[in-house]
Parts: sequence; C-alpha cells; structure tokens
Amino acid sequence: MAKDIPVSQKYYDPEIECMPRPELEALQLQRLKDMVAYAYDNTVYYKRAFDEAGVTPDDIRTLDDIAKFPFIDKKTERETQHVGSFFGEMCSVPEEEVIFMATSSGSTGVPTVSPFTQEDFDLWQDTEARLFWQAGMRPNDRYVHALNFALYVGGPDVIGAQRLGALAIWVGAVPSDRLLFVLKQYQPTVIWTSPSYAWHLGEVAKEKGYDPRTDFNIHTIIVAGEAGGSIPSTRESIENLWGAKVVDFYGLSDIYGACAAACEAHDGLHIVEDQILVETVDPTTGEVLAPGETGELVYTTLMKKARPMIRFRTGDIGYVSTEPCECGRTLARIHITGRKDEMFIVSAVNVFPTDIEYVVRGLDGLTGEYSIRVYEQDFTCKYEVSVERALGSDEPYDEVAKRTMAAIKAHVGVRPQKVIVYDAGKLGTSSEHKASRFIDERGCQ
Ligand SMILES: [Zn+2]
Repeated sequence: MAKDIPVSQKYYDPEIECMPRPELEALQLQRLKDMVAYAYDNTVYYKRAFDEAGVTPDDIRTLDDIAKFPFIDKKTERETQHVGSFFGEMCSVPEEEVIFMATSSGSTGVPTVSPFTQEDFDLWQDTEARLFWQAGMRPNDRYVHALNFALYVGGPDVIGAQRLGALAIWVGAVPSDRLLFVLKQYQPTVIWTSPSYAWHLGEVAKEKGYDPRTDFNIHTIIVAGEAGGSIPSTRESIENLWGAKVVDFYGLSDIYGACAAACEAHDGLHIVEDQILVETVDPTTGEVLAPGETGELVYTTLMKKARPMIRFRTGDIGYVSTEPCECGRTLARIHITGRKDEMFIVSAVNVFPTDIEYVVRGLDGLTGEYSIRVYEQDFTCKYEVSVERALGSDEPYDEVAKRTMAAIKAHVGVRPQKVIVYDAGKLGTSSEHKASRFIDERGCQ
C-alpha cells in the first residue's frame, strides 16, 4: 500500500532516513545479532563456516565484532548454490517460501541466484519506494521503467514506483524507436536506464529530429549499472542533453535491486543502513578500514530472510562517509571509485576506468564515448584509450589525441601509451544498455 504522505514532504521515511546515528547503530546491532543467529540456526553454510572459524552468534556484542566472522564472495555463492537443495546451502528457508529469484548476468562466471521470500520482496519494494522518493519521484509522476525484466534484479523495482503511488509504464529493454515513441506519446516524467543508454537515447532522439529538452517531459533520469551517474562530467552532459536531473542509484543482485541512491548534494549515495551493514576492508589483506579510507566495500544484510549475506565482498572499491549530509539524512554515503577487477596499476599509480571517463566526458570536442585497453609489455602494465571526435568536428586527429592525452596525464598522473581517435559513432560502445568499455588483456591478473 502506498504511504499517505504529503507531496511536499522531503523524506519518505524520516524516522529511518534521519535517525540519529547512535540510535541507528543500536538498531543495526540488534538486527545484526538477530541475523547472525538466524543464519547460524537456519543454514547449512553459515553453521559450518562459523564453526570452522571458531565463532558463534554470541560473539556479536558490538557492531565491530562482525570483523571476527568469515567473508563470503561470489565464489562462495557459486560453490554453495544448488547444493543439497535448489537454492543451496546459504538459503535459510524451504523452496516453497521463495516467491522470486533473480540472477546475476554471469558475465564474470556462472550466474549467481538471488532468492526472496514474500517478506523480503515486500521490504525490498518499500525500500525502492523510499529511494524513488529521495530521487524526487512523487505520486503524480509517470514513470517509465526501461530496465530489462528478464532475470535481472532491477526489473521488479518498478513495483516500488507503484508502491509510492506513481503511474508506472512497464517498458523494459526495447529498441530506441519504441522507447522514444513512449516518451513522446505518453509524456512520462521519470525514467530509469543506464548512463550510457541515457546518453545514446538522447543522441538518437536528436537524430530523429526531436529536442530531448522540449519534446519530452522528463524531469528526472535515474541511472544505475555503471559509474557515470556519480561522475560529475558524465552526469552534467546527460542533464544538459535532456534538460533533466540525473540521480545515481546503486544495487547488486546478491543483495537486491537498488540499495543506495544519490541525494541533491550529489556527494555519494545514501545506503539503506537500516537493512545493510557496510564495512570497508583492505582488498588484499581483508583488514577492516576506518570510515573515509578507500578499500573494498563489504555488506551484511540485516533483514533478508531467504538468504542472509554476511560479510559479502562486493568487489567494489570506494569509501564510506558517515558525517552529516547537507540533505539532512544521517544514513552513511558510499562513494564508489571502481571495480576491484578493473583497477590497473601503471607506474605504481592505481587507475580506474572511471578516472578516464571523468576526463573524456569533461573535454570539449569529443562525443564522450571511450574505451580502454589494458595490456602488458615487457612485464609492465600499459594502457591505451580510444575516443570519438564530436559530430561534425574537423579538428585533426593528432590534435585531439594530444590534448586528450595531456588531460588524462594531468588528472590520472600517468599517460596512456596512445590515444586513438575515431569519428562520432564509430567506436561501437554506445548502443548497448550497459556498455563494455574496458578491454583487459593483462595476462597475469
Ligand atoms: Zn544527502
């Protein structure tokens, strides 16, 4: 049921979103104790893993005590799913109680399966409603859900928009022509897609003779699945193209659809800490780091009943800030720098594809599209970057390459071996809903 709250109210659930941190941490601790005991008592996997590590649920006395417990990761999920039962050893309920499953894309191995009970599903959609409200969606909005529904955990998030009271138009991943027809004909006001697709769709709209700023009625574009929504130059490019606000969302199939979203401060994404305990750890040693220090983000679900996730290593590199945000929310903010498996080291400098994106999207005379190839030469890691000249540009290729290289060197600290320049639309990365711009040819990773 939609909550009956005034349209002008800033927060969807002020009690949770603005809870003083000591209270929030007390709530987290109680939920953590309950969840660790629940996982121990109801799953084959956690019983075995905790016993092997010599820990019991009684060891949780403070939030920091979570550090005594073993990590899990994608590999743990793959090794235990479908073992002994359909959902496997990490699942804590019989299959009859599971009403929905999503899977990961499988792009980095066997897809992992994520099960939900009815209670999990309802809580998840309540959370989506909260994040949509935070993004500026209200019951009088028309919302286009342009996400792939097939197996993808973002698909059912559309129900969260309905729970908020918005008019939801379930479009899914359709060809651009069809989506533009929907935008023109039904004049929706909010859309969710990926940053690269938002950019691509705006460009296609212009090619078809539309002005995305005036022919459509979009005021908010929610983006997820790529880093772009939190890269200022990317966000501003999309905002200028559409005359709409871009709000970054973050989620992962192992937990659920979206579990963090930007606020108007655009300084990190508030994570739903009432349901997820966040840690940052050293990606190599696993040692717990303090708030503000950059490392791998690790999540523990505090509410999920079908499959507890205790100390899940996400592979996302970033940092957490817990200081007050200007929007008034007290929930911690995550700042994602990049993926652990996409970080490369050149001359002792850690480089993420997002660093390159930051530069490329901020330079004039380029389309903003790019790809990065990382390779080894003489046992040394090197990289090259491909970009596109803006449509109609006649700037010499070597001039474009030279100033792009200088800008990358200035921002990243190490220059690419070369910058390859294509004409607009020739790089072939822009038409996918989730673009793959990172070509990893390192042999020793
Ligand atoms: Zn905020």
